[in-house]
Amino acid sequence: MNYAMALEYQNCINCKACEVACKQENGVQLGADKQRIWVGQNEDFIFGNPTVNYYPSQCNHCIDAPCVSVCPTNASYFTEEGLVLTDKDKCILCKGCMEACPYDARFVDDKYVAVDKCTFCFDTRISMGETTTACQATCPTKVRLFGDLDDENGELVQLLKRKKFFVLKESEGTVPKLFYIFPDDEQFAINSIGQDTTIHTWDTFKPLIDEAIKRRDS
Ligand code: SF4
Ligand code: SF4
Ligand code: SF4
Repeated sequence: MNYAMALEYQNCINCKACEVACKQENGVQLGADKQRIWVGQNEDFIFGNPTVNYYPSQCNHCIDAPCVSVCPTNASYFTEEGLVLTDKDKCILCKGCMEACPYDARFVDDKYVAVDKCTFCFDTRISMGETTTACQATCPTKVRLFGDLDDENGELVQLLKRKKFFVLKESEGTVPKLFYIFPDDEQFAINSIGQDTTIHTWDTFKPLIDEAIKRRDS
């Protein structure tokens, strides 16, 4: 099992329903910004015209996660389902993981005085047999698709086989597992994707996943 998520980010309307759902589901403080989930915004002028792109984001549950390798107490760890989780009882709040994460996905949860981040709703949903996360279930424009990369016939892998996609900050080498689906609208793609971004297909990314797992487990 190797849980991951695809995002049709072109469909994001920045309504923040995912943020509200996540807060409610996981007891995140009301009003807290960029805790577990957020919608990044990029404003630009293209040929004199203002453009705004939204990048809904959260922890990438990286396969080669620096937040895990840097943690001195094993408070950050991999699960056999391919998730990166934190154990608040083991966290000594050294904040090494927060510095190591290239995605700024971690924060200090004042309630527990420990570091926290997106769990792919493992405790509240996935471990109980549910198949969607709260953010996926709530999104009115169906941006997110949660699934298992090991399930070749599952909806997630089928989508990744059908569409091109990219990941954020690939050069950091963490092999992240939030897959941003290449937009159907060509102009939107030009406006929203950096020129140095590698566009992948399932055939080009799957070997990176397999190599990273082998590296991690050796
Ligand atoms: Fe760790 Fe950051 Fe990757 Fe999440 S996104 S697994 S916190 S390095
Ligand atoms: Fe590990 Fe906590 Fe330190 Fe992060 S802050 S590296 S989870 S002990
Ligand atoms: Fe929050 Fe769950 Fe979505 Fe993660 S998967 S951002 S914990 S609602």
